[in-house]
Amino acid sequence: MNTCSKCGNQQIIIQKKHSGQNLCQECFIESINEKVLKDTRKYKLLEKGDKVLMALSGGKDSVVALHILNSLREKNIIDIVAVTIDEGIKGYREEGIEIAKANTRTLGIKHRVVSFKEYFGRTLDEMRGQDDTRQDDTRQDDTRRQGDTEPRHACTYCGVFRRWILNRVAQEEGATKIATGHNLDDETQSILMNYLEGNINNLIRIGPKSESRDERFTVKIKPLREIPEKEIGLYAIAADLNVHLAGCPYAGESFRREIGEFIKELSRDHPTIMYSTLRGFDKIKPILKKELTPKGNTGECRRCGEPSAGELCKACSFLEGWE
Ligand code: SF4
Ligand code: ZN
Repeated sequence: MNTCSKCGNQQIIIQKKHSGQNLCQECFIESINEKVLKDTRKYKLLEKGDKVLMALSGGKDSVVALHILNSLREKNIIDIVAVTIDEGIKGYREEGIEIAKANTRTLGIKHRVVSFKEYFGRTLDEMRGQDDTRQDDTRQDDTRRQGDTEPRHACTYCGVFRRWILNRVAQEEGATKIATGHNLDDETQSILMNYLEGNINNLIRIGPKSESRDERFTVKIKPLREIPEKEIGLYAIAADLNVHLAGCPYAGESFRREIGEFIKELSRDHPTIMYSTLRGFDKIKPILKKELTPKGNTGECRRCGEPSAGELCKACSFLEGWE
């Protein structure tokens, strides 16, 4: 009979194929807490006195990250303020917002809900609507729907506008770090996607901590970067956390989803594949970086004042295109 590799308990909740470890509920929770805090130290994600803006969607990843980072807040090592971005996805986001509110209320953490509507004058649903109308005029150009980098996918808009809001709210709150719930699956997907698309400049930006040389961007950290999505889900259940389980209706549109399925399929017979993708990438990244200097955002967007490589930042160039 399998018993917990740490304490011998006979009720195990996970058999980790990649490490051969069996763990009971208590030891599993503890092992994830330890791993996340160890990575936080190893990659120097946080320093004493940091004010962390937690990007809290209400989904399992950000809720788990919030609860683990809260242990550092309770020890007065860091302060946390949480923000939930309401993109304006009808029938989906509302529940996530309520769950985010409930979690921050339980932990006594300051929480803000900010929306695409208030910052950009339109919801993500409306942005998509604008695009569909435009597509009717250019129907012969149907190749433009392929590939996640094309601006016609909801996720492309969502990513650009979310990054903009996070950076702005971090400034408003005086936050020194922005924490996100990105997990091992997200990170390996990003590595493969950027590699397959030949986006080498984006590829070398991937890591546990953003390395923006521009002080106007708040540093982003990913404390769950080495935890597989499945284990985060199990942690949420084992620790009895209140999380939003529904999937975004736009998720099915993206290239990321296709890559995610491909990696999941591979992981069935090769359980260490995500770790080796990450480790391999982390090894070649410094070599790539030496060869390539990432394009910096040296200027300032003439419309919103955020750092930008061109005259307009990405968010504002979308907005101007719709006016
Ligand atoms: Fe935004 Fe796409 Fe995520 Fe939905 S799946 S929340 S549209 S990035
Ligand atoms: Zn701008």
